[in-house]
Amino acid sequence: MSESFSRVIIGTLITPDSVVPNGYVAVRGETIAAIGAGVPPPALETIDHGTNLILPGLVDGHMHTSSSTGWPGIETATRCAAAGGVTTCCDMPYDVPKPVTDAAILADKIGWVERTAHVDMALYGTITKFGGVGAIPELAAGGISAFKLSTYEYDAVRFPRIDHPTMLAAFQAIARTGLPVAIHNEDQELVETLTAEARAAGRTDPIMHCRTRPPLAESMADLEIFEMALETGAHVHIAHSSIARGFELAETFRALGAMTTGEACIQYLCMTEDDIVRLKGFGKCNPPFRTAAEVERMWGCLVAGKIAYVSTDHAPWPRERKLGDDIFACGAGLTGLQSFAPLMYTLLAERGLSPTLMATYCAERSAKLHGIWPRKGALRVGSDADLLVLEQGDFMFDEARIVDRPEMRWSAYHGRMMRARVAATYLRGTMIWDGEQVLSRPGDGRFVRRAG
Ligand SMILES: [Zn+2]
Repeated sequence: MSESFSRVIIGTLITPDSVVPNGYVAVRGETIAAIGAGVPPPALETIDHGTNLILPGLVDGHMHTSSSTGWPGIETATRCAAAGGVTTCCDMPYDVPKPVTDAAILADKIGWVERTAHVDMALYGTITKFGGVGAIPELAAGGISAFKLSTYEYDAVRFPRIDHPTMLAAFQAIARTGLPVAIHNEDQELVETLTAEARAAGRTDPIMHCRTRPPLAESMADLEIFEMALETGAHVHIAHSSIARGFELAETFRALGAMTTGEACIQYLCMTEDDIVRLKGFGKCNPPFRTAAEVERMWGCLVAGKIAYVSTDHAPWPRERKLGDDIFACGAGLTGLQSFAPLMYTLLAERGLSPTLMATYCAERSAKLHGIWPRKGALRVGSDADLLVLEQGDFMFDEARIVDRPEMRWSAYHGRMMRARVAATYLRGTMIWDGEQVLSRPGDGRFVRRAG
């Protein structure tokens, strides 16, 4: 009798609505062919993870592989994803030297994904600062999962501010595609003026990063994009809200009939202003860390279901870009792919919350928003057999074990005690991380088109 399954993987299954001890996932080819509990069915290979937790491979809805190194960063960032149990990366479009602003650039980037990625990738698209609205239909047709625009300018080419009339026209065009548009939400004038005042006063110490990007800089930007969402019918999504108010505004506008959502990055669920004082440049990201009281309000929003999903905003700047006494001169962004799963598990455990919330907020909801569920982000028959296996225990997170290039091996979570580690990762049925080393090769990852 020939075995009907190529591989059976045993452990405690965690889905958004269940915890199943003695469970199994049976794989045929690259997809999940059966799920159950108790005596597993025969297969060509059986891998028993004992009491370890098996979750859907995480879908990180927001990260940047290529903002410092260009597309070669895809290979190294997705190695970290493999080691971190993230099996689908939704990559931002703000790449050097070319952001993803038309179908030809998108096709080039897809080629890099197919040749070099270790995990599967969905891609965002964006528009040029001027005259780029016309490329919106071709980017959507090319299979991007979402658009990304910004109210704040980091760079006129790579990461431009889109002015109000252009953004309004872009939202009208994006509404016709049915895709969501994520927005980097900070008010340019407020931040620039506060930063200039801080510099003039000789204050370039770490806490001034928080003071010059106050919560109001976010909520003002949230309001303008949500007003345009209401006007145009576009699904407008805050790419990262560090404040509970962002989610409350999204809810208020939904009640008015708009399609408005917001995302939390994991750092806003645990880091505070004290951490940037301690970490200096290595704790700099935009928006900045807030107060401990704000972190509590963020958890209130998560537990109440007001947060669309939780992401990393992984942006691996080389160590040298994070050094120096001038906080304004440091690159903004944290590494996060390899720490994502252990940290999310730990934060939930520390609050007495179920790991089912991790399956919900770090896999199912992000996959749904990006139009790739249930192929991705689900433990279901017919889904890709993407699995995250977590071993519970006490593990110190050590930045030296980050599998990115040497200058990217730093973490704001270095030395933090974690309550779990990633014991294995499976991509479409194949183990790509065994708890010690990355087993995948560049090109094992694929581009994932938005399905609808
Ligand atoms: Zn980002």
